[in-house]
Amino acid sequence: MSPIQSISSGTSFKPNSSTATTKSSIIPIPPLLGASVTELTTWVQQQGQPAYRGRQLHGWIYQQGARCLGEISVFPKKWREALEDVPIGRSNLDYRLEAPDGTVKYLLQLADGQIIETVGIPTAKRLTVCVSSQVGCPMACDFCATGKGGFTRNLARHEIVDQVLTVQEDFGQRVSNVVFMGMGEPLLNLDTVVAAVKSINQDVGIGMRSQTISTVGIPQRIRELAQYQLQATFAVSLHASNQQLREQLIPSAKHYSLEALLEDCREYVNLTGRRVSFEYILLAELNDLPEHAAELAEHLRGFQSHVNLIPYNPINEVDYQRPTSSRIQDFVDVLEKQHIAVSVRRSRGLEKDAACGQLRASNNTPIS
Ligand code: SAH
Repeated sequence: MSPIQSISSGTSFKPNSSTATTKSSIIPIPPLLGASVTELTTWVQQQGQPAYRGRQLHGWIYQQGARCLGEISVFPKKWREALEDVPIGRSNLDYRLEAPDGTVKYLLQLADGQIIETVGIPTAKRLTVCVSSQVGCPMACDFCATGKGGFTRNLARHEIVDQVLTVQEDFGQRVSNVVFMGMGEPLLNLDTVVAAVKSINQDVGIGMRSQTISTVGIPQRIRELAQYQLQATFAVSLHASNQQLREQLIPSAKHYSLEALLEDCREYVNLTGRRVSFEYILLAELNDLPEHAAELAEHLRGFQSHVNLIPYNPINEVDYQRPTSSRIQDFVDVLEKQHIAVSVRRSRGLEKDAACGQLRASNNTPIS
């Protein structure tokens, strides 16, 4: 078993207290990726090294993309030899697929063999990474490919941070934005996601405000997230303008009413002073009628919020349809008339099943 496999998905960093000079005495250690300068400094000191090596290690992990400690040429030879095989916590690239619009989907293999998906989305001014927070997803939303494959486990902090570094290295360009909209439900892995957001901010150097945590809504967890007082953007996958419709699309909605969810979002705004972004998937003839837009506007009246409309991206298992552009525009018009801030998300990577909801850990998804 490698040292990495013996580590649970917890987020706390508990460096090995023994002083390591030989290969056998440095095992087990936690994956170093995701650790702060302070944590790394503590760790190197526990290995009998001077404190400044902590900052060196930090630079090699986050700037140079070191994959194992043996690569770090500024470390003394003897220590490097002792650490040679110690992994830093990086994944292995299993598969890479580039769509004609430049969006790249990655299948990444984790230390225990599990596969997750990450997407790099370039625009003229930005490079956004869509990260996974779990292997699979237990929420089983009817329109989402990830949920069709079931749930395996939560990701650990280093496995989330790794996704950002992987895309940054592959594009040879700094990542500007991170969205937790890949596989999984971030609020079911809340403490780890928060730890990853902090590391992506402090260690990788991406602004907290340039990160978005998206949830379908988990009872109690929105309040918990608010208590962290993150500067990150908070997005809620609403997708329906009434309870009945929401239950039809999202099984977990039966246990968390639309009313309760919106109440918790209001509380979030009050506790954090930050607005909430609502995602609303548009499914033709199902939730895209002007009366749905009016109903949605009614719920959001006076609410410090923003609505992001997501025209449905097709998946194989269900036969929902994407609305026409004019239907989408009608929906936008109704919201705007009610002074609701609204935008329509442009689908990226559709051709390679890399768009929202199309993620699934297999490399044999059809390429249209
Ligand atoms: N579990 C979280 C994050 C992952 S999904 C959440 O639900 O928010 C990221 C976004 O993609 C969500 O808004 C989700 O509802 C949306 N999505 C899922 N399947 C989709 C599909 N087939 N077409 C368009 N958007 C989809």
